Amino acid sequence: YIVAERVCKSFGAHQVLKDVSTVFHTGEVTVIIGASGSGKSTLLRAINRLEPHDSGRITIDGVDVCDDLATLQRQRCEVGMVFQQFNLFGHMSVLDNVTLAPRRIRRTPRTQANDEAMQLLRRVGMQDHAHKYPWQLSGGQQQRVAIARALAMQPKVMLFDEPTSALDPEMVKEVLDVMRGLARGGMTMIVVTHEMGFAREVADRVMFFDQGRIAHDAPPQEFFSNPANDRIRAFLGQVS
Ligand code: ATP
Ligand code: MG
Repeated sequence: YIVAERVCKSFGAHQVLKDVSTVFHTGEVTVIIGASGSGKSTLLRAINRLEPHDSGRITIDGVDVCDDLATLQRQRCEVGMVFQQFNLFGHMSVLDNVTLAPRRIRRTPRTQANDEAMQLLRRVGMQDHAHKYPWQLSGGQQQRVAIARALAMQPKVMLFDEPTSALDPEMVKEVLDVMRGLARGGMTMIVVTHEMGFAREVADRVMFFDQGRIAHDAPPQEFFSNPANDRIRAFLGQVS
Protein backbone atom coordinates (compact mmCIF):
# COMPACT_ATOMS: atom_id res chain seq x y z
CA TYR A 1 0.00 0.00 0.00
CA ILE A 2 1.06 3.55 -0.70
CA VAL A 3 0.46 6.43 1.64
CA ALA A 4 0.69 10.09 0.69
CA GLU A 5 0.65 12.51 3.60
CA ARG A 6 0.38 16.23 2.92
CA VAL A 7 2.51 15.99 -0.19
CA CYS A 8 3.46 19.35 -1.71
CA LYS A 9 5.35 20.08 -4.90
CA SER A 10 6.10 23.35 -6.66
CA PHE A 11 7.77 24.22 -9.92
CA GLY A 12 9.13 27.70 -9.24
CA ALA A 13 6.27 29.76 -7.87
CA HIS A 14 3.66 27.35 -9.22
CA GLN A 15 2.39 24.94 -6.58
CA VAL A 16 1.37 21.80 -8.46
CA LEU A 17 0.55 19.48 -5.52
CA LYS A 18 -1.13 21.07 -2.51
CA ASP A 19 -1.24 18.94 0.63
CA VAL A 20 -2.19 15.74 -1.15
CA SER A 21 -3.09 13.02 1.36
CA THR A 22 -4.50 9.61 0.53
CA VAL A 23 -3.94 5.87 0.84
CA PHE A 24 -3.76 3.49 -2.10
CA HIS A 25 -4.57 0.07 -0.67
CA THR A 26 -3.13 -3.20 -1.87
CA GLY A 27 -5.21 -4.76 -4.63
CA GLU A 28 -7.12 -1.56 -5.24
CA VAL A 29 -7.56 0.07 -8.66
CA THR A 30 -7.66 3.85 -8.48
CA VAL A 31 -8.50 5.93 -11.52
CA ILE A 32 -7.34 9.54 -11.38
CA ILE A 33 -9.05 12.11 -13.56
CA GLY A 34 -8.91 15.88 -13.77
CA ALA A 35 -8.12 18.81 -16.01
CA SER A 36 -4.81 19.24 -17.80
CA GLY A 37 -2.26 20.71 -15.41
CA SER A 38 -4.08 19.62 -12.25
CA GLY A 39 -1.09 17.56 -11.02
CA LYS A 40 -2.01 13.98 -11.95
CA SER A 41 1.28 13.09 -13.63
CA THR A 42 3.27 14.91 -10.98
CA LEU A 43 1.74 12.71 -8.28
CA LEU A 44 2.56 9.51 -10.18
CA ARG A 45 6.08 10.77 -10.82
CA ALA A 46 6.51 11.62 -7.14
CA ILE A 47 5.48 8.09 -6.15
CA ASN A 48 8.36 6.57 -8.08
CA ARG A 49 10.71 9.48 -7.44
CA LEU A 50 11.00 10.64 -11.02
CA GLU A 51 10.06 13.98 -9.46
CA PRO A 52 10.99 14.53 -5.79
CA HIS A 53 8.29 16.19 -3.70
CA ASP A 54 9.13 19.25 -1.61
CA SER A 55 7.38 18.36 1.64
CA GLY A 56 5.08 15.80 3.16
CA ARG A 57 5.65 12.06 2.97
CA ILE A 58 5.11 9.25 0.53
CA THR A 59 5.60 5.70 1.79
CA ILE A 60 5.45 2.36 0.00
CA ASP A 61 4.62 -0.45 2.40
CA GLY A 62 5.74 1.81 5.20
CA VAL A 63 9.09 2.81 3.68
CA ASP A 64 9.70 6.46 2.80
CA VAL A 65 10.20 7.34 -0.83
CA CYS A 66 13.48 9.25 -0.64
CA ASP A 67 16.89 9.59 -2.27
CA ASP A 68 18.66 6.80 -0.40
CA LEU A 69 20.06 4.76 -3.27
CA ALA A 70 19.37 1.27 -1.95
CA THR A 71 15.79 2.21 -1.05
CA LEU A 72 15.29 3.93 -4.38
CA GLN A 73 16.47 0.89 -6.30
CA ARG A 74 14.26 -1.47 -4.33
CA GLN A 75 11.23 0.76 -4.72
CA ARG A 76 11.81 1.23 -8.44
CA CYS A 77 11.53 -2.57 -8.72
CA GLU A 78 8.31 -2.54 -6.73
CA VAL A 79 6.64 0.17 -8.78
CA GLY A 80 6.05 -0.38 -12.49
CA MET A 81 5.26 2.59 -14.69
CA VAL A 82 3.63 2.82 -18.11
CA PHE A 83 3.67 6.14 -19.97
CA GLN A 84 1.58 7.69 -22.70
CA GLN A 85 4.52 7.44 -25.10
CA PHE A 86 5.46 3.80 -24.70
CA ASN A 87 9.20 4.65 -24.36
CA LEU A 88 10.42 1.28 -25.63
CA PHE A 89 14.10 1.00 -26.50
CA GLY A 90 14.00 1.40 -30.28
CA HIS A 91 17.19 -0.50 -31.06
CA MET A 92 16.16 -3.60 -29.09
CA SER A 93 13.80 -6.43 -29.93
CA VAL A 94 10.56 -6.86 -28.00
CA LEU A 95 12.12 -9.73 -26.07
CA ASP A 96 15.20 -7.70 -25.15
CA ASN A 97 13.05 -4.77 -24.08
CA VAL A 98 11.24 -7.05 -21.63
CA THR A 99 14.32 -8.91 -20.35
CA LEU A 100 16.69 -5.95 -20.01
CA ALA A 101 15.79 -4.86 -16.48
CA PRO A 102 15.52 -8.37 -14.99
CA ARG A 103 18.90 -9.28 -16.48
CA ARG A 104 20.65 -6.04 -15.52
CA ILE A 105 19.06 -5.32 -12.18
CA ARG A 106 17.87 -8.67 -10.86
CA ARG A 107 20.77 -10.55 -12.51
CA THR A 108 18.30 -13.10 -13.86
CA PRO A 109 20.10 -15.52 -16.22
CA ARG A 110 19.20 -14.94 -19.88
CA THR A 111 17.35 -18.22 -20.47
CA GLN A 112 15.22 -17.75 -17.38
CA ALA A 113 14.60 -14.09 -18.24
CA ASN A 114 13.56 -15.13 -21.76
CA ASP A 115 11.15 -17.77 -20.42
CA GLU A 116 9.56 -15.32 -18.02
CA ALA A 117 9.37 -12.65 -20.73
CA MET A 118 7.61 -15.05 -23.11
CA GLN A 119 5.03 -15.80 -20.42
CA LEU A 120 4.41 -12.09 -19.97
CA LEU A 121 4.22 -11.52 -23.72
CA ARG A 122 1.63 -14.27 -23.91
CA ARG A 123 -0.32 -12.55 -21.16
CA VAL A 124 -0.48 -9.33 -23.21
CA GLY A 125 -1.08 -11.19 -26.47
CA MET A 126 2.33 -10.34 -27.98
CA GLN A 127 4.05 -13.75 -27.95
CA ASP A 128 4.18 -13.87 -31.75
CA HIS A 129 6.07 -10.58 -31.94
CA ALA A 130 8.95 -11.29 -29.56
CA HIS A 131 11.66 -10.89 -32.19
CA LYS A 132 10.30 -7.77 -33.83
CA TYR A 133 11.51 -4.24 -33.18
CA PRO A 134 9.28 -1.47 -31.82
CA TRP A 135 9.08 0.30 -35.20
CA GLN A 136 7.47 -2.83 -36.68
CA LEU A 137 4.58 -2.67 -34.20
CA SER A 138 1.38 -0.64 -33.95
CA GLY A 139 0.97 1.78 -31.07
CA GLY A 140 -1.33 -0.61 -29.24
CA GLN A 141 1.16 -3.44 -29.64
CA GLN A 142 4.00 -1.25 -28.39
CA GLN A 143 1.99 -0.26 -25.36
CA ARG A 144 1.23 -3.89 -24.56
CA VAL A 145 4.97 -4.62 -24.74
CA ALA A 146 5.58 -1.66 -22.43
CA ILE A 147 3.15 -3.20 -19.94
CA ALA A 148 4.94 -6.57 -20.17
CA ARG A 149 8.26 -4.80 -19.66
CA ALA A 150 6.99 -3.13 -16.50
CA LEU A 151 5.58 -6.43 -15.22
CA ALA A 152 8.91 -8.16 -15.76
CA MET A 153 10.26 -6.63 -12.57
CA GLN A 154 7.37 -8.22 -10.67
CA PRO A 155 6.12 -4.91 -9.28
CA LYS A 156 3.69 -4.68 -6.40
CA VAL A 157 1.95 -1.73 -7.96
CA MET A 158 1.53 -0.45 -11.50
CA LEU A 159 1.23 3.23 -12.37
CA PHE A 160 -0.32 4.14 -15.72
CA ASP A 161 -0.13 7.69 -17.03
CA GLU A 162 -2.67 8.08 -19.85
CA PRO A 163 -1.64 4.76 -21.40
CA THR A 164 -4.17 4.98 -24.24
CA SER A 165 -4.10 8.70 -25.02
CA ALA A 166 -1.58 8.38 -27.84
CA LEU A 167 -3.36 5.46 -29.49
CA ASP A 168 -5.71 5.30 -32.45
CA PRO A 169 -9.23 4.47 -31.26
CA GLU A 170 -9.18 0.92 -32.59
CA MET A 171 -6.14 0.12 -30.45
CA VAL A 172 -7.43 1.50 -27.20
CA LYS A 173 -9.51 -1.57 -26.42
CA GLU A 174 -6.67 -4.07 -26.70
CA VAL A 175 -4.64 -2.10 -24.16
CA LEU A 176 -7.57 -1.59 -21.80
CA ASP A 177 -8.31 -5.33 -22.01
CA VAL A 178 -4.79 -6.09 -20.80
CA MET A 179 -5.21 -3.61 -17.95
CA ARG A 180 -8.59 -5.09 -17.08
CA GLY A 181 -6.94 -8.51 -16.87
CA LEU A 182 -4.27 -7.17 -14.56
CA ALA A 183 -6.89 -5.64 -12.30
CA ARG A 184 -8.82 -8.92 -12.18
CA GLY A 185 -5.58 -10.64 -11.17
CA GLY A 186 -5.45 -8.42 -8.10
CA MET A 187 -2.74 -5.95 -9.14
CA THR A 188 -2.64 -2.67 -7.26
CA MET A 189 -3.06 -0.01 -9.94
CA ILE A 190 -3.13 3.77 -10.13
CA VAL A 191 -4.37 4.83 -13.53
CA VAL A 192 -4.57 8.33 -14.97
CA THR A 193 -6.97 8.09 -17.88
CA HIS A 194 -9.82 9.77 -19.70
CA GLU A 195 -11.43 6.39 -20.41
CA MET A 196 -14.55 6.74 -18.32
CA GLY A 197 -15.88 3.33 -19.37
CA PHE A 198 -12.76 1.74 -17.89
CA ALA A 199 -13.17 3.82 -14.72
CA ARG A 200 -16.80 2.77 -14.29
CA GLU A 201 -16.10 -0.86 -14.90
CA VAL A 202 -12.69 -1.51 -13.35
CA ALA A 203 -11.95 1.15 -10.74
CA ASP A 204 -12.54 0.69 -7.05
CA ARG A 205 -12.23 4.45 -6.61
CA VAL A 206 -12.26 7.46 -8.85
CA MET A 207 -10.25 10.45 -7.72
CA PHE A 208 -10.79 13.90 -9.18
CA PHE A 209 -7.82 16.26 -9.18
CA ASP A 210 -8.47 19.97 -9.27
CA GLN A 211 -5.60 22.47 -9.16
CA GLY A 212 -3.24 20.26 -7.20
CA ARG A 213 -5.79 18.90 -4.75
CA ILE A 214 -7.84 15.75 -4.50
CA ALA A 215 -11.18 17.45 -4.86
CA HIS A 216 -13.26 14.28 -4.75
CA ASP A 217 -12.65 10.59 -4.16
CA ALA A 218 -15.48 8.07 -4.40
CA PRO A 219 -16.41 4.64 -5.74
CA PRO A 220 -17.29 4.89 -9.45
CA GLN A 221 -21.02 4.30 -9.03
CA GLU A 222 -21.31 7.17 -6.63
CA PHE A 223 -18.83 9.32 -8.54
CA PHE A 224 -20.60 9.10 -11.88
CA SER A 225 -24.23 8.84 -10.85
CA ASN A 226 -24.14 11.92 -8.70
CA PRO A 227 -21.20 14.23 -9.54
CA ALA A 228 -20.25 15.99 -6.33
CA ASN A 229 -19.94 19.47 -7.80
CA ASP A 230 -20.15 21.58 -10.93
CA ARG A 231 -16.45 21.27 -11.79
CA ILE A 232 -16.72 17.50 -11.90
CA ARG A 233 -19.93 17.74 -13.89
CA ALA A 234 -18.25 20.09 -16.38
CA PHE A 235 -15.21 17.83 -16.64
CA LEU A 236 -17.30 14.72 -17.24
CA GLY A 237 -19.24 16.63 -19.89
CA GLN A 238 -15.98 17.19 -21.77
CA VAL A 239 -14.58 13.67 -21.63
CA SER A 240 -17.65 11.42 -21.80
P1 ATP B 1 -2.19 16.53 -18.23
O1 ATP B 1 -3.61 16.06 -18.15
O2 ATP B 1 -2.04 17.62 -19.24
O3 ATP B 1 -1.20 15.45 -18.38
P2 ATP B 1 -1.46 16.72 -15.40
O4 ATP B 1 -2.63 16.77 -14.48
O5 ATP B 1 -0.77 15.42 -15.57
O6 ATP B 1 -1.91 17.29 -16.82
P3 ATP B 1 1.09 17.66 -14.51
O7 ATP B 1 1.87 17.12 -15.63
O8 ATP B 1 1.18 17.00 -13.20
O9 ATP B 1 -0.45 17.82 -14.91
O10 ATP B 1 1.53 19.17 -14.39
C1 ATP B 1 1.00 20.05 -13.42
C2 ATP B 1 1.59 21.42 -13.64
O11 ATP B 1 2.98 21.38 -13.38
C3 ATP B 1 1.44 21.95 -15.05
O12 ATP B 1 1.11 23.32 -14.97
C4 ATP B 1 2.79 21.75 -15.66
O13 ATP B 1 3.05 22.73 -16.63
C5 ATP B 1 3.71 21.89 -14.47
N1 ATP B 1 4.93 21.07 -14.62
C6 ATP B 1 4.97 19.72 -14.70
N2 ATP B 1 6.23 19.28 -14.79
C7 ATP B 1 7.02 20.37 -14.78
C8 ATP B 1 8.44 20.59 -14.85
N3 ATP B 1 9.29 19.57 -14.92
N4 ATP B 1 8.88 21.86 -14.80
C9 ATP B 1 8.02 22.90 -14.70
N5 ATP B 1 6.69 22.77 -14.62
C10 ATP B 1 6.18 21.53 -14.67
MG1 MG C 1 -0.27 14.26 -17.19
